This record gives sequence, C-alpha cells and structure tokens, in this order.
Amino acid sequence: MSPEEFRRHGKQVVDWIADYLAGIESYPVMSQVKPGEIRSALPSGPPERGEPFEAVLSDLGRILLPGITHWQHPGFFAYFPSNASGPAVLGDLLSSGLGVQGMLWVASPACTELETVVVDWLAELLDLPEHFRTNAKGGGVIQDSASSACLVALLAALHRASDGQVTSDGIKRRYTLYVSSQTHSSLEKAARIAGLGTSGVRVVDVDPRTLAMDPGHLRTLLAQDEAAGAVPAMVCATVGTTSTTAVDPVREIGEVCRERGLWLHVDAAYAGVAAVCPEFRWLNDGVAEYADSYSTDPHKWLLTNFDCAVLWTADRAPLLGALSILPEYLRNPATSAGSVVDYRNWQVPLGRRFRALKLWSVIRWYGAEGLRAHIRKGVGLAQELASWISADPGFEVHEPHPLGLVCFRPEWPGLAAAEADAATMRLLQLLNASGSVYMTHARIAGRVVLRLAIGGAATERRHVEQAWEQIRWELAALSTTLP
Ligand code: PLP
Repeated sequence: MSPEEFRRHGKQVVDWIADYLAGIESYPVMSQVKPGEIRSALPSGPPERGEPFEAVLSDLGRILLPGITHWQHPGFFAYFPSNASGPAVLGDLLSSGLGVQGMLWVASPACTELETVVVDWLAELLDLPEHFRTNAKGGGVIQDSASSACLVALLAALHRASDGQVTSDGIKRRYTLYVSSQTHSSLEKAARIAGLGTSGVRVVDVDPRTLAMDPGHLRTLLAQDEAAGAVPAMVCATVGTTSTTAVDPVREIGEVCRERGLWLHVDAAYAGVAAVCPEFRWLNDGVAEYADSYSTDPHKWLLTNFDCAVLWTADRAPLLGALSILPEYLRNPATSAGSVVDYRNWQVPLGRRFRALKLWSVIRWYGAEGLRAHIRKGVGLAQELASWISADPGFEVHEPHPLGLVCFRPEWPGLAAAEADAATMRLLQLLNASGSVYMTHARIAGRVVLRLAIGGAATERRHVEQAWEQIRWELAALSTTLP
C-alpha cells in the first residue's frame, strides 16, 4: 500500500470509526451470535490475490459487526469499563503508523523517554509518592495488562525474597503468595507461571461485610507458613476488587509486611485511576508508606483504549535483577554506559509497542480536569443508581459501593436461595438478550448478585435511567412466570 493509498483508505477508516461511534446506540450492546457463526461466515482460506481495502471494510460491517460486543455503547455495564476515546485511538494510530518497536532506548529514544515522562505525569495526577518517580529509586512502566504487572511484581518479589537465588537457580524452596478470596485470578496465574503453583497461593480471609482482606488472618497465615518452613514472597492487596470494588486495608496489611520485610503489591487495576480526583485519594492510603509496587489500568476507566496498564515500583533494583538479560545483539553504548532506561528489563516480552503515545494524547486532550470530570460522572451516576435501587423494596444493594460499580439483587419473596439465584441469572440473561444493556454477575457469600459498572465515556444519566427502568420491567415480567 503506497502512502497515497494509505491516505485514502486511512480517511475511510477514520470515517468508518466516526460513523460507528455516532451510531453505536443502534447496535445490541452484547453480540447475539451463536458460537462458530462468525467463523463459518468467513472464507476458510486466505486469498491468493490481494483484494481492495474496501472489501475488508465491507466484510467488517457485514460479517464481523454482528459478532462485536459494543464496549463503547452507553448501555455497556458489564465487567469494568474498557474505555476508548478519540485521542487514545488517534495516539494508537500514530503508534502503529510510526511502527516503532521500543525494546531498547537506542531502538527509539523518544519511545522510552516519552513513556518515562507520561508514567511520571500519571503518578503526579494520582498523587502517588515521589519515590515511584523515575528520578528516584523507583519508576513506572507501561505493561500490557494488570495481569502482567502482577506477574512482574511477583518475579521482583521472589528475586528479593531469595537474594537473587530464584533468578539464578529457580525455585528450590516453598515460596508463598498471599491474596484474598476476592483477589483477581491473575495472581493465581502469576503464581503458576512463577513456579509457586496453586498450592503456593495462600488465601487470606475477608471481612464478611466489606469483603476486604483481614490483616489479622494474614498475620496468622504468615506465622503458620513460616513455622512450616515456607518463605513468604509477596502479599497482594487489592484496591477495588473485581467482584464488588472492595478496598483492602493497605496500611494495616503494609504494617504486617513491613515487620517481615515482605513485598507488598497493590493491585488497583480498576479503581486506582479514580485518585485523579482529590476526593478519592483515600484509595491511596498506605501506598506511599508501604507499597513496594502498585499498578492501575488507564485502559479500564481512564479513557485510554486497551492495552495500557501502568506498574510502579518503589525500588526498581529487584525488578531489574529478576528480568535483565543482555544478549550480544542488543549491546549498545547507551545501555552499557547505564545512562538510559531499557524498559525491556521491566517486563516479560522483549518487544514493546509505543503505548505511551496514546496515554500522552489522552492526558493532553482531557487535561487533569477532563479526567476528573470523567471519573466523577461515572461515580455520580452509580451513586444515583444505588439510591434508586435502595429505595425499591424489591431489591437489595450490596454495601459499600464507593465508585462506579453497584452490586444488587432482587428479593424474590418465597424462593429458596438456590431458586432465587437461578431466577437472578435468568433475569440477567433476559436483560442482556434485550440488546439495550450488558451486565454481568458475581457471587457474594455464595449468593448471585448483578453487577452494573458505570464508566463508559458515552454513558449519560438517561442511559442509567433506562437501564434501571428495564431491570424493573424485566423483573416484573419474569416474576409473573414464577411459581
Ligand atoms: N486486577 C483486578 C482488580 C481486576 O479487576 C482485573 C480485571 O478486571 C485485573 C486485575 C486484570 O486486568 P487486566 O485485564 O488488565 O489483566
């Protein structure tokens, strides 16, 4: 494709995206296709001859679009938001256009240096501590996902806990990782990848009401494990758990870690970005004093399209100790002089995209005040919704719900717990099949709840009102069919 052809088709693509976003409410939020439907509509083999780009765009609309779940639809309330925004998409397009692979500083100095600046900016926006900034002992890096950030933190923690032995000799002792029942499953995956195995993951109790980790039980488990000869490697505290946005008491957990010199990672994948607003800085309590590493995902709720997860560490030495390798073909004067950052040593893969461009575009386009307005809108709508649900005697709301997620369930008078849960799941199915909303579920104390996560850039009050109206309408219709 020549530059002139690219110009023509590029304009078509930008128009296509703009039309798609302008008309997004006309699509069912959740794709309604059956498994295999999209695959069977596509040719089974590649074309021998090149095709015009218009054919690709036409098949995108005709074949693929029905199989798209519209994450940017204002009625998307499932999982957590995965915000995209104009400046982020354009920043990503520029990254693709430059085609830079920024594995080393020398491979494209601007790729590394912009990343350093942008992660430092984000640390400032979130009021994270000075020692997470790159000029100090620590520093931040953009990873593909919170899952990778947690894995990398665990590898650094193992390096430190073993004085580098795990890095040189592999796992020779029983190392343990501490999570709660509410911690994201990526931590168990990280433990498996790192060689701790599922049995190396120790599950700390949670407060039955708030679902936050119980530091007292953490202390008990640590003492038991140490007495049994295990080497605790890391505790992962979560700020904003996946099911209910529970917030673990980082400060108290940090005190337990400090007593033992144990690595504390704080996974704030969803909730961390809320700290752009001063009123949500309480989410950072204890991070400055106790966290060895901290991660949050601008690709969830900060208007930056996937993938963009930022990991900061208070001391980059164990991270670099765990992951630095310098094969001959990557040797260069800047690296050898130690005068530059090589982010390949801060992550699992060697290669890296120029992801800083999209985060830079987002921060510059919205400014701190635009980012704050986005977070405040999501939280404000969620709090309003929670107040409507609480006021309805047919529903029960899970407390607390400090951010953009509300968990709730219908009361189902006369139904036993298992039947009530089945009815709640049926209600969810009906709502999602309607095409106007997409929600997911969680279990709290064994009972099914509906999760409604607000935070899409296009979601306005009227969409939340419509969703609430529809929930009540579907519930009333379903109730008439129950015994
Ligand atoms: N941690 C928490 C608390 C999450 O809620 C999630 C995903 O929702 C993750 C980690 C994993 O995020 P990612 O998709 O960036 O790996």
